[in-house]
Amino acid sequence: MIETDTLVIGAGPAGLFQVFELGLLEIGAHVVDSLHVPGGQLIELYPDKPIYDIPGIPACSARELVDNLLKQVEPFKPQLHLGQEVASLERQDDGRLLVGTSAGTTFLAKAVVIAGGVGSFQPRRLALPGLERHFDTQVFHGLRSLEPFAGRDVVVAGGVDAALDAALALSEPGPHRARSVTLLHRRDVFQAEAATIEHVRERIASGALTFVAGQPTGLEEAADGRLAALQITHGDAQTLRLPLDLLVVGLGLSPKLGPLAEWGVVLEKKQVVVDTGTFQTSVPGVFAVGDVVTYPGKKRLILSGFHEAALASFGIAALVYPDQRIQLQYTTTSTRLHELLGVPSP
Ligand SMILES: Cc1cc2nc3c(=O)[nH]c(=O)nc-3n(C[C@H](O)[C@H](O)[C@H](O)COP(=O)(O)OP(=O)(O)OC[C@H]3O[C@@H](n4cnc5c(N)ncnc54)[C@H](O)[C@@H]3O)c2cc1C
Repeated sequence: MIETDTLVIGAGPAGLFQVFELGLLEIGAHVVDSLHVPGGQLIELYPDKPIYDIPGIPACSARELVDNLLKQVEPFKPQLHLGQEVASLERQDDGRLLVGTSAGTTFLAKAVVIAGGVGSFQPRRLALPGLERHFDTQVFHGLRSLEPFAGRDVVVAGGVDAALDAALALSEPGPHRARSVTLLHRRDVFQAEAATIEHVRERIASGALTFVAGQPTGLEEAADGRLAALQITHGDAQTLRLPLDLLVVGLGLSPKLGPLAEWGVVLEKKQVVVDTGTFQTSVPGVFAVGDVVTYPGKKRLILSGFHEAALASFGIAALVYPDQRIQLQYTTTSTRLHELLGVPSP
């Protein structure tokens, strides 16, 4: 059992900045995320796309923003518990909140911050019986590293950004280029960024990428049990055999609001209702920030999550330090904040 001042659910931009704002008020935090890497939507959905509306940063990629958020929060040594979903939340007799995860980790926290975005991300799977036997050996949901694909025959299934970006990365000239890349989608229509679609069409025209229209309806295994090929059905009911070494499923992610609905917090259209003074939910001690919240005028922007995290930290400070008046201090001038941040005071 881990005792902590605060448990933050979600390591997206709102959750990460929440830890920083709590740190400035000398409030400790642990963070849980169902993904294996921090960054939320920025890393899962658009890591290499540029963002232009972060105050003071004219342009940066989503990945750069996450790297900088992680660097900014370093002085507060955030404890990240990744690859596990928060599954339960229960109030204890002493008022603290007992939080349990899918990996069996339990936390006893004075406050909980739901920074769960659009929900816990689960990769959409191909509905093919038997395919699960090859998960993480020959079948991958998304592309984490190019190395295992170098020189192999790869099929990428899907028609959204995730699949197109993977097909482009795998067919990019370089040391990690796959031997062959086949993009498999039910028809020659994609739901992705216009520039990405254009790029994919150029690669197909140049022969660097093959496109196959059809639906996978079966799989073929070799005598040693390895996945050898997919059976594909075309629109005209004909079938074809698509041999492969590795399969990347790029059908995107389906966010799952998860168990949040059972914790008693008031929801409105699957969003958490908050008090905009403190970002506390209808359950005392449970706060919420970022895309998961709703209030009049709410905009699902990264900068909104940052502002909400700053106010939530003051709401939480009132719980963690009930007898103290919490002063607003500037990072520019406060020697105490310099000490906490590990920077020299002028
Ligand atoms: C393609 C695209 C482009 C965008 N471009 C911009 C832009 O230019 N500017 C801008 O301001 N915004 C942009 N956005 C929106 C921005 O990404 C979101 O506003 C932001 O990611 C919200 O941050 P968050 O921390 O609230 O949630 P998220 O980024 O969604 O992170 C939430 C995290 O919580 C985790 N989680 C949820 N439930 C649980 C649970 N029960 N247990 C454990 N973990 C859980 C999830 O796995 C996830 O990692 C864009 C969004 C998309 C999709």
